[in-house]
Amino acid sequence: MQYYSTNRQAPMASLEEAVVRGLATDKGLYMPERIKALPKEFFDGIAGMSFQEIAYHVADAFFGEDIPAEDLKRIVYDTLAFDAPVVHVDGNIHSLELYHGPTLAFKDVGARFMARLLGYFNGQHAASAMTEAPSLRGRVGEKASLVNVLVATSGDTGSAVANGFLGVEGIHVYVLYPKGKVSAIQECQFTTLGQNVTALEVDGVFDDCQRLVKSAFMDDELNAHIRLTSANSINVARFLPQAFYYFYAYAQMKRQGKEGELVICVPSGNFGNICAGLFAHRMGLPIKRFIAANNSNDIFYQYLLTGEYLPRPSVQTIANAMDVGDPSNFARILDLYGHSHAEISGLISGAAYSDEQIAETLKDTYHRTGYLLDPHGACGYRALREGLQPTEQGLFLETAHPAKFRDTVEAITGDAVVVPEKLQTFMRGTKLSVPMTAQFDDFKAYLMSV
Ligand SMILES: *Cc1c(COP(=O)(O)O)cnc(C)c1O
Repeated sequence: MQYYSTNRQAPMASLEEAVVRGLATDKGLYMPERIKALPKEFFDGIAGMSFQEIAYHVADAFFGEDIPAEDLKRIVYDTLAFDAPVVHVDGNIHSLELYHGPTLAFKDVGARFMARLLGYFNGQHAASAMTEAPSLRGRVGEKASLVNVLVATSGDTGSAVANGFLGVEGIHVYVLYPKGKVSAIQECQFTTLGQNVTALEVDGVFDDCQRLVKSAFMDDELNAHIRLTSANSINVARFLPQAFYYFYAYAQMKRQGKEGELVICVPSGNFGNICAGLFAHRMGLPIKRFIAANNSNDIFYQYLLTGEYLPRPSVQTIANAMDVGDPSNFARILDLYGHSHAEISGLISGAAYSDEQIAETLKDTYHRTGYLLDPHGACGYRALREGLQPTEQGLFLETAHPAKFRDTVEAITGDAVVVPEKLQTFMRGTKLSVPMTAQFDDFKAYLMSV
């Protein structure tokens, strides 16, 4: 399958090119040239299938032409080594809990899939170097076997990417994070891993980390010396696999006979997650409509209301993974619906909540139902509570475990949050960061030397 750029200036790319480049050369986002509808028999039998079986069918529609069935199956099954249960909250509202992966947030799915896909491509190169040019075996094989993933993080992305790539052969990950500016819980999730993950503690702010990464990609000498790639969230290999759990959620609702008028609500920041849901819908998944829940960064909500897209600097909120002022995947949504505001606003409605409203919802829901939301899920839950019709069944995506935002959540509910064992294990680990200045020359010298 070929991938085109939403800006339509760059040449078509193969799956591997799209994954290694991340962003197209015209700065557009890659889109698969076809979105295949899945057959009726698939939906007829979906309620009896496992998460992995369902995901493999979905993955096959996108990646089946490029990856042999057995390899793709292994990638999918390894990626989804955890469940994504639908849990009833109250009335006709359900939570799709996407926090049962290693770093307790939905980004685990995309990060783990991308890591395994890159690992697969890498193995292919190593294998073909062996057979095609035995005399170059050592040299070519060696070069093909080391891909360096650079990722700048303000907290959450670093943990999902580092853990997603942990132990994947032929790949080394460098996580750049701003010293003293990520929470202790976040920091321990990518600084204690060791193995093929190196955390660089940059003496600067997040923007410095991002600048160092961007400069590295543009530096010819460095790129001639080592292979660099990015694991940005707009990467097709991180974004498309998120479609898997929409199908699995539908299957779980169908098992309970509740799939009739399904409304899915997605707490949204960069809009990658909801965009994957829109792809699932295009593949034939019977979802009646979507709701995009925002915090105070309500650029998309305003677009739905007015038809005008006016990006602006983000403001900080307690649902900080949604603090985005210019959502990158908006370009994909426009492309998917031929830039039609009527079509987009016909399928998706919006909502936006202040920190006070998020806190109020989290507290009220906890005391009334016993269900503990995280600040992002709270936006999703509230949008359903306010917008759902009695005939509809609502499902919101609970995008992270509340323990990841422990201080905020405990201050709101007044109760201690139970920290899952997985998170406690990270917190017991030893910090292994390498100190780094915010000067590109220092960063470059470091990468040249390793
Ligand atoms: C990344 C993230 C979001 C936003 O997802 P997008 O795909 O950027 O819209 C929401 N909640 C949590 C917990 C996240 O980590």
